[in-house]
Amino acid sequence: MARKEIKAWSVSDCDEYYGISRWGEGFFSPGKNGEIEVSLSYGEHKQKVSLYELAQKIVKGGLSFPVLVRFRDILRSRIAALNNAFARAIKQSGYRGVYRGVFPIKVNQQQQVLEDITEMGLPYHYGLEAGSKAELIIALSYVKDRESFIICNGYKDSEFIDLALYGRKLGYKVVIVVERLSEIDTIVERSKELDIEPLIGLRVKLSSSVPGKWSESAGDQSIFGLTAHQIVSAVEKLKAAGMLQHLKLLHYHFGSQVPDIRHIRGAVKEAVRYYVSLCREGAPMGIIDVGGGLAVDYDGSQTNFHSSRNYDLAEYATDIVEEVKELLDAEGLEHPTIISESGRFVIAHSSVLLFNVLDSSSLTVPPESLSIQEDASTELRDLVEIYNNITVKNVQEAFHDVIYYRDLMRSKFLMGDVNLRERGLAELYFWNSIEKIVRLAKQRKYIPEEIEDAEAALAHIYYGNFSVFQSLPDSWAIDQLFPVVPIHKLDQKPEIPAIIADTTCDSDGKIDKFIDIYDTKPYLLLHKLQDDEDYILGIFLVGAYQETLGDLHNLFGDPHIVSIGLDEDGEISFMGEVEGDTVEDILTYVEYIPKNILQKLRKKIEAALKRQEIDLVEKKQIAQAFEEGLRGYTYFE
Ligand SMILES: *Cc1c(COP(=O)(O)O)cnc(C)c1O
Repeated sequence: MARKEIKAWSVSDCDEYYGISRWGEGFFSPGKNGEIEVSLSYGEHKQKVSLYELAQKIVKGGLSFPVLVRFRDILRSRIAALNNAFARAIKQSGYRGVYRGVFPIKVNQQQQVLEDITEMGLPYHYGLEAGSKAELIIALSYVKDRESFIICNGYKDSEFIDLALYGRKLGYKVVIVVERLSEIDTIVERSKELDIEPLIGLRVKLSSSVPGKWSESAGDQSIFGLTAHQIVSAVEKLKAAGMLQHLKLLHYHFGSQVPDIRHIRGAVKEAVRYYVSLCREGAPMGIIDVGGGLAVDYDGSQTNFHSSRNYDLAEYATDIVEEVKELLDAEGLEHPTIISESGRFVIAHSSVLLFNVLDSSSLTVPPESLSIQEDASTELRDLVEIYNNITVKNVQEAFHDVIYYRDLMRSKFLMGDVNLRERGLAELYFWNSIEKIVRLAKQRKYIPEEIEDAEAALAHIYYGNFSVFQSLPDSWAIDQLFPVVPIHKLDQKPEIPAIIADTTCDSDGKIDKFIDIYDTKPYLLLHKLQDDEDYILGIFLVGAYQETLGDLHNLFGDPHIVSIGLDEDGEISFMGEVEGDTVEDILTYVEYIPKNILQKLRKKIEAALKRQEIDLVEKKQIAQAFEEGLRGYTYFE
């Protein structure tokens, strides 16, 4: 008898399935005990810590799920990686300028994050990019280093420009990047009025565009930047005002998450041509700002798929530095300072959203719980017969038959010829048949496409304690993929195909597309829920854009945030806790006054008491429940 070798399930199978080591970039990896570990480092200290253990500590400390965990050591490590990659590329290619990165505030405006970035960036003169007056005010108050840049993008009114000019007066390198021609008039007027010399940049609209989800910001139709003709007009305007000597920077930003290195190279080439032309026009220049776009490999596939990238950080930095050097050498011009505005790359890995699964549901039932009464209708009997006789050979025929009988039962129900119980049973037999068909079809060499497609419909629904709209807006709005993984039990085989629904009850509040090496998967294999233990999932790489794009759908608010890192002694420390919104907070955001709401409720309690429908004890209980409800977390506690 031939012996089939049965391979035991191991943690590395889970790693392969969820892709943890591929997208984890060394920060996340599965531990031997089946729990995901995060690698923290501070100076000489290095430690791997179980996320599951951290989650339990957080809950013991009094917070409930969902919790957004921020790892400061990951942020520090990314800032270092970005700056070191450019430093290395500059050294290796003999480039005679420097690199000065800036962090775009819009990617994560949280106070704690900016505090960390401006502190951690000090060794590299790392600066900030501001796209509005509010962000510029943050930048001016947080940047500590006068060597680092503050880049002002976005549409600017005279107040915005005044703030930037005052920033110059305070001794900071604040560059006003012109997005629209008319801004030049305001800059000329305000800087003459305030008698402050501006640092001026021009944002060029490149014709190179990037295909994909995030492509809108480039190409002729993009809403930002100046066309070639407008650049000429800008130069004329500055010359006429006698201010061309303040034009120092050329900027472009042609989209976020650019997965293909060829597009990155193409854009630099085009931009450097503009840079050279501006030098030829007599502007002093000296700085080129290549914007954002450095992508994150969300699915770990290392391809030019929209959720990935076909290059790494070193290649990105080298390509930019070498393109700039080559073209400027050919023109005999000095090498400029290179600025980049990477947001996503710097911050995505540092945040993880942790939530518990509240419940699950499925269309199928365990086969032993299927049975029919003696007097069942013939249609139902036929369906049962088909179910019992599905074989590997007849899967396709059975597939068509069960659909026929399911539809027949539905129309008979509509006519009143079949009662609710029979219809209910017919549905169970239908879904159990589909499950059996899909299972048996896998033993065939070739699986009919319609059966393959049916598999996704069998996925169980796992109800997660979080809101897609609040914590994962890009998943809902632009179908962005994020890795979703259980943070424990990875030493056990996940066998339940599932999609994830959030607590908002909105039909869009779900995740039903998951990362995969090739394209995407319509469901994720998860572990069976156990009554006696929490099942905790993590959504990874959520540090960029998700936190402040989130909205208050169904009035679910901000989750709790915990900031974690190693301290000077190498010990894990919880460095800051921001409590999530209470129901009261959320109601205030939409202009309710909690005190008035309580008053209205109290009046109703009084009225019920007067009608003698409740007694004094119940009155107290009900009032207390409402008061506590207002003070409570907006999520399932
Ligand atoms: C959003 C934005 C960025 C950040 O882009 P990433 O792809 O996240 O690095 C940089 N510059 C400008 C002007 C932006 O609008």
